[in-house]
Amino acid sequence: MKAFKLFICIAAAIAALCSCSKKDDGGVRVVIVGTDGLRWQEVFGGIDAAIIDSSKFTGKEAAKNLFWKETREERRAALMPFTWDFVAKNGILIGDKENGSSFSVTNKMWFSYPGWSEIVTGYADDARVNSNNAVPNPNVSVLEVAQNTEKYKGKVLAFGSWERFKEIINEDRCGFPVNAGFEGYPEGYKTTAKEDYLTRMLKEMVPYVSTVRQDVITHEFALEAMRTRHPEFLFIGYGETDDWAHAYKYDISNICCRNFDGYLRELWEYAQSDPFYKDRTVFIVTTDHGRGWFNAWDAHGSSIEGSGDTWLMVYGKGIPAKGVLTSGEYHTNQIAPTAAKLLGIELPAHEGMGEPLDFAGMK
Ligand SMILES: [Zn+2]
Repeated sequence: MKAFKLFICIAAAIAALCSCSKKDDGGVRVVIVGTDGLRWQEVFGGIDAAIIDSSKFTGKEAAKNLFWKETREERRAALMPFTWDFVAKNGILIGDKENGSSFSVTNKMWFSYPGWSEIVTGYADDARVNSNNAVPNPNVSVLEVAQNTEKYKGKVLAFGSWERFKEIINEDRCGFPVNAGFEGYPEGYKTTAKEDYLTRMLKEMVPYVSTVRQDVITHEFALEAMRTRHPEFLFIGYGETDDWAHAYKYDISNICCRNFDGYLRELWEYAQSDPFYKDRTVFIVTTDHGRGWFNAWDAHGSSIEGSGDTWLMVYGKGIPAKGVLTSGEYHTNQIAPTAAKLLGIELPAHEGMGEPLDFAGMK
């Protein structure tokens, strides 16, 4: 009897090891994160004295009380502590035009749908992707390409504050739920108790913009998915940094920026606490467009100078700790090819698609 029990124990241990090694495929996880219309000037310089001097915007005193410091380095650390405590020491930041590197979109639209579409597909399509209207994206995202591989089928999820992500990522075609706007998960999708609670809050919160839900809801849905569904390829698009800027509110827009930085910290810390993600996850973080300077800070688009300039941060598995780059011109159309390369999937070539980023060759 004892021998039999021992046999059962050994068999169970072997089975556990096998199921573990089956689950632990050694693969890289990729999280693409963005926040809408956050300027490189704030990311690399903190709050901006020129905007504080402009009479056009509100909340400037509050912004100053919260985030003003004497030096550029102190200001940015006050606004985005995780970025400057952690990412700058452990990853790569691109797009500080005052220090020699640039990051920009290749589309000529310089507003949201074309920007996000370029992020997820790897190319601009100004002939067809040139409005923010609720038109399903004719182009295929790297998320959809992954979903259509045997390796990543059922392991891709997307979250967005703006309801338009359902069209940008093309929920009707892509094969996975796009939890965006005021819908949450689609009807019939099996949800957790926390997701049901978030959906209830989502339905009852009064939105500031009718098409964009509060970022905290998007963030909590994404974290709950990481905890309970373990997607291997994840997209998260936050939105409030843009909406409050369009509303001229420099304080609230920057509070949302600080919140965004806190979400990045929480995503990273969660990933490092879960063996499924720990030491094997790459975060690619960006924005869909820039905005104007001084009195044009609220605006962006092809007529607003500089609003095609953006930024990128990358950190996590295998990413060298190079801090802020001081040279090189890089573009949004390189993000999807980079994600594909990290995941080991083939992104079909397309006119205007960028090259995957060569982290080792960067300076
Ligand atoms: Zn935008």
